[in-house]
Amino acid sequence: MPSGEVASARSVVIIEDEAPIASAVAARLRSEGYRVEVAPDGPAGIELCERVRPDLVVLDLMLPGLDGLEVCKHIQSDRPVPVLMLTARDSETDLLVGLAVGADDYMTKPFSARELVARVHTILRRVERSSAEPVPGPVHLGDIDIDPASRRVRNCGELVHLTPTEFDLLLHLASRPGVVSTREQLLSAVWGYPDGSGARTVDSHVRALRRKLGDDVIRTVHGVGYAVEGTAAAARR
Ligand code: CA
Repeated sequence: MPSGEVASARSVVIIEDEAPIASAVAARLRSEGYRVEVAPDGPAGIELCERVRPDLVVLDLMLPGLDGLEVCKHIQSDRPVPVLMLTARDSETDLLVGLAVGADDYMTKPFSARELVARVHTILRRVERSSAEPVPGPVHLGDIDIDPASRRVRNCGELVHLTPTEFDLLLHLASRPGVVSTREQLLSAVWGYPDGSGARTVDSHVRALRRKLGDDVIRTVHGVGYAVEGTAAAARR
């Protein structure tokens, strides 16, 4: 295995119909050593992801043909890949957070290419860090089995598809049953964000996990944060 410095270039697919934005982001990512390919619409983006199997996807929400939500579903049903979603307004981000669409992070336009590249670095560093860490043993949460080695989750034996960030968040909470984590602590531990910005990103991922695994999988501790109860809560079902 090559060391981090000389590891083969990570690849990013950009799916964005606004050519000036796509080319500015692509140029910046290339200058940072990423391999970058761009698709101008949803169907082409899905095809490109199947062919390139990128390490990360930058995905615009408003696309001709197939919107970003549909594209996100498609590319993540193939395999878990981190998605950074671009939106036109904060209100759209709020809506997406409410829908828990499975993006790993969101950026609202306008943003600087530098800012986006910093976000891409952070997401990839986190994914790589979690795959480089010694793998803990399986964690059981009632009917939910979490296997860190394969990064797979089963609920009553049924495989449940989680995004990379959803998986990391679930594993983090499930490894600490009964411990309440604040949103800031989760952002730091799971996302690697030191400044505590992005609390609604945490809420979005909690919502997605509840939708996929049941409302009682994660408990909200009002005014504090989130926790799992461990086997006691899940055993009640
Ligand atoms: Ca667009």
